[in-house]
Amino acid sequence: MPDVYYGRDEPSVKEWGGRLPVALVFPERAEHGLSTLGWQVVYRLIAGRDDLAVERFFWTPSSVRPKSVDSGRDLGLFPLVLLSLNFEGDYPAVVSLLQAADISVHAAARSDWPMILAGGPLAFLNPFPILPALDGVFVGEAEAGLDTVLDVAARAWRSGHSKAQALQEIALLPGMLVPGLSHEPVQRQIVRAPEARLVAPGYSCFVSNEAQFRDMLLIEVNRGCPYGCRFCAAGSIYKPPRHACLEDMQAIVERCQPRKVGLVGTALTDWAELPVFLEWLHTRQIKFSLSSLRADGLSESLLTFLRRTGTRSITLAVEGASQRLRTAMNKHFSEDAFLSAVSRISQLQFGTLKLYMITGWPGENEEDWQEFEAFVGRIDQARRQGQGQRKTGVDLISLSVSCLVPKPWTPLQWTSMRDEQWFKQAMKRFKGILGRYKGMRFSGENPRQARIQTFLSRGGEELFPFIALAAQEGLAQAAQVYGADIAAQVEQEYALTHVFPWDRLDIGVSKAFLRSEWKKYHKELMTPPCPEAGCAACRRCGVDTFLSP
Ligand code: SF4
Repeated sequence: MPDVYYGRDEPSVKEWGGRLPVALVFPERAEHGLSTLGWQVVYRLIAGRDDLAVERFFWTPSSVRPKSVDSGRDLGLFPLVLLSLNFEGDYPAVVSLLQAADISVHAAARSDWPMILAGGPLAFLNPFPILPALDGVFVGEAEAGLDTVLDVAARAWRSGHSKAQALQEIALLPGMLVPGLSHEPVQRQIVRAPEARLVAPGYSCFVSNEAQFRDMLLIEVNRGCPYGCRFCAAGSIYKPPRHACLEDMQAIVERCQPRKVGLVGTALTDWAELPVFLEWLHTRQIKFSLSSLRADGLSESLLTFLRRTGTRSITLAVEGASQRLRTAMNKHFSEDAFLSAVSRISQLQFGTLKLYMITGWPGENEEDWQEFEAFVGRIDQARRQGQGQRKTGVDLISLSVSCLVPKPWTPLQWTSMRDEQWFKQAMKRFKGILGRYKGMRFSGENPRQARIQTFLSRGGEELFPFIALAAQEGLAQAAQVYGADIAAQVEQEYALTHVFPWDRLDIGVSKAFLRSEWKKYHKELMTPPCPEAGCAACRRCGVDTFLSP
């Protein structure tokens, strides 16, 4: 991929003459787009080509008209619009964006250019609720085929071909879903590499003090996760797990010369070269920050190093209230390893410990909450290990509890979601447990919003009227109108033979594997992580067939 890096500088706007103008849209606020690696990887891919002229767009419902942040041009002037879909809330934003640009919202009503294509994590997961607004979806990692789609679009546009002619050709490309034209199921495209290596790790094109991660160069350490938690969509759709190599990471830092680096990945401590890389950054006086860590990956030396180099806060995921639930969800979690990590975090005076948990598991009950009550007592004891004269140890433990949203492509895709009353009771219970301890803080997700997220994440094209209403009136208002439909859909338990909208895609993970994992959830049986030797030594989930040439 071409090397395009601007740091804090603004990219120069290319002359359009002869080039295909491409609007790269992140349908949320700039601070989120500037902190999203996938969107920036696509920017780099397009900006490095001489036959395309890319400009950036962000969008919030309060914006008046979508305009390029690079030139101020209207979205409606661009013959190719690429949308990055990251969260279900992006669906109504896409509709309001098109309306504000005076572009027909229904693809069927747009006979000619612009061509509106989408990609991003939701394109792997379930793009079907927003499909009526799109000309096509690229299902896969951008590095694994988007270039070819752009070749065809640019050639067709330069030759004066109609959009319909271009789509006929694009529909046949690997990874492309063009309604009515593509062969289905559409196979996800991923970068194939030997020995589970992450070829060309993603990194930021821009750093900005507007971004959520201020002035931080984000670099991808690993993609995919070996642990197979049964609720985790990212673990499924990015299979198999792949790690960057040290030389590639160092080369990126040397090229970009950042002041701060943010390491992004699903299993950071699984990367064997992490300690060497962090030491290497430290000797160059480059600050760094790590996303969520696994308790069992926190070695004594890593914790000591992190504290010595200025880290004040550690984030760990507990996920379930009891060991029984953690086993059912296939969370590879050892209570002993967790508590000893908390003790060491306290002894090293980290100050803040953030914990994440999910509630609403199938079968979760009062016994699980009672076990959690006792567990919090043990966490409190462990956090006192570092307290003493003028030493506070961990002086703040904050627990964030979210609601289980059954996601496509996970073994939990068949399960029902709890009703609002159940979640309110659970949240009250957790808040009460934490409230007994000094220096512990609780925050809980709004169950109504989580249920809307489920509704959007496992619906199909029939949801488009709901999305159009949400674009007009807001999600909360639309949810009131569609209250009965939401309750019926999210509280439904699906038969294992049910055909979901996303079955029109093939992301590689087999249905047989997902079904067997769902059965193992009920039997509370664990599945081991992906072996280090990779798919050839395993062949369990079906993804290996994607890796054969
Ligand atoms: S085939 Fe095995 S190693 Fe490969 S992604 Fe699936 S579970 Fe992991």
